Amino acid sequence: MPRKLGQHFLKSHAVEQLVRAIGPRPEQTFLEIGPGRGALTLALAAHAREVVAIETDSALARELGRRAPPNVRLVHGDALTEDLRSLVPAGSRFAANLPYYISSPLLRRILELRGHLTDAHAMVQEEVAERIASPPGSKEYGILSVMFALHADVEIVLRLGPEDFAPPPKVSSAVLRIRFLPVPRAEVSDPEAFELLIQRSFARRRRTLENNLQDSYPNLKENLRLLKIAGSRRAETLSVVEFAALSSVLSER
Ligand code: SAM
Repeated sequence: MPRKLGQHFLKSHAVEQLVRAIGPRPEQTFLEIGPGRGALTLALAAHAREVVAIETDSALARELGRRAPPNVRLVHGDALTEDLRSLVPAGSRFAANLPYYISSPLLRRILELRGHLTDAHAMVQEEVAERIASPPGSKEYGILSVMFALHADVEIVLRLGPEDFAPPPKVSSAVLRIRFLPVPRAEVSDPEAFELLIQRSFARRRRTLENNLQDSYPNLKENLRLLKIAGSRRAETLSVVEFAALSSVLSER
């Protein structure tokens, strides 16, 4: 099997572990990206009401469509561009062994489905999982950790090695459990300004906040003082609540 499209298929013992971590129930609908040969899809379908799975590889989608039970709906399409929200009803869950070459943009798309999905279990490269699940103060903490922390509780619930897939990927893997919060952890009135602030704050990780931000925000020093955030701190030490507070005062003119 060629390694195009991030095609690394889960072996059956790993599927069992993943399904145990997900805990599907008979009344639940799942959205899946990249069902491949259906290892996870069919295991979920055995426990859940419905699985809607989007696959970009037409041969795989066709083949799985022939074998799948009636409670599996296969969509042939690109998960990066398809309207995912329209595929499943509100209150659905998400589960996938994601194609790693596009895991970051797909995770962003999953985050955008907050409010529509209750939770998501996503298998990604271990390194990406660590980055997203890291708390402030750790060296993996970064832009994606802050963006996810605003809207979800995130934890790593399963780690797998290359030997758990066929063919084996070059990297280790981990499953993120993402539980969306009913309301964001902090109030963010201007999401674009907030994300820009995070990007600028982490632009040079080893620099202080003040060094990273002073050219972009003329009122930076007085606002840091107001919030009692030392300008000598690095972005990796700030919580999402501190970033949100900083963003709202910097946006005020
Ligand atoms: N779920 C299967 C499993 O666990 O054995 C396969 C997972 S494999 C890591 C990733 C799957 O995503 C492949 O079947 C691949 O064809 C599919 N894929 C890759 N890019 C995609 C895209 N843009 N949209 C939808 N599916 C995609």
